[in-house]
Amino acid sequence: MKELTIVSGKGGTGKTTVTAAFASLIERKLMTDCDVDAADLHLILIPEVYHEEDFVGGRAPTMDKSLCTECGTCQEVCRFAAITHDVERGYRINSFACDNCALCSFACPEGAITMVDSVNGTWYISRTPYGKMVHAKLGIGEDNSGKLVTLVRQQAKKLAQEEGLSLIVSDGPPGIGCPVTAAITGTTLVLIVTEPTISGIHDMERVADLCRHFQVPVQVCINKYSINLVNTQKIRHYCADRGIPVVGEIPFEPLVNKAQVARKSVVDFDCGSVGQVVRQMWQEVEKKLLA
Ligand code: SF4
Ligand code: SF4
Repeated sequence: MKELTIVSGKGGTGKTTVTAAFASLIERKLMTDCDVDAADLHLILIPEVYHEEDFVGGRAPTMDKSLCTECGTCQEVCRFAAITHDVERGYRINSFACDNCALCSFACPEGAITMVDSVNGTWYISRTPYGKMVHAKLGIGEDNSGKLVTLVRQQAKKLAQEEGLSLIVSDGPPGIGCPVTAAITGTTLVLIVTEPTISGIHDMERVADLCRHFQVPVQVCINKYSINLVNTQKIRHYCADRGIPVVGEIPFEPLVNKAQVARKSVVDFDCGSVGQVVRQMWQEVEKKLLA
């Protein structure tokens, strides 16, 4: 089973645009959206959900008011100011402020607070015009996005095996935190989609370092390369110094926005030369995946 994971470091570089184009270009594959905090691949792939399950990612405190004697110990020990009190409603847990550390449950002398499984989000299997997709949505303010990414990848591998597919193409999360680590660990190849801006370069370097740490092969795509040729040259030099192939340089093209508004990938909409550049880039990526 091969896995291609498309990441960016910085958000908004065009990672999902490239992923959606690959979804259209590659025939036998399974898609995943591992950007569980802010999934948006569905905007272009337009999935029809046929399987949906809760994601139980951790445990959260719950208070049994009938046991509470209002001693105030839980509020004293909570380092997150997540336990509030008023005369009418007594002591209460603010789930948005709570870090689920469980200290209050140990400290309560009456056993009024217990830790219970908490539903942190939902994961889905869907049909799309480009094949099946495993994706997920983390609840608002919920934790454990790394665990949810791992779950999405596990379910995708299981489904790909059932369907006889040997390639998973994944829209990865931005940044370099826990969800990205969960998305790239053990993957076959990472494609970093960057842009020639200061923050784009900075975050590309950080995610490239992360991939090197986990010994994952990397390729780079420079999106909107023509908006700043000086910075584009810096990216080329950076990649050349580290032996990272630059497999695609996509020009800035306002028609890409029109494709997005029409909910089409850049290879299914007239986006000038962008479609052809992405097709050629896929050929380079495929060579590495098959190597
Ligand atoms: S520590 Fe237990 S008994 Fe004391 S206020 Fe909190 S919930 Fe109530
Ligand atoms: S679990 Fe931790 S953070 Fe949440 S209310 Fe209890 S002590 Fe505070």
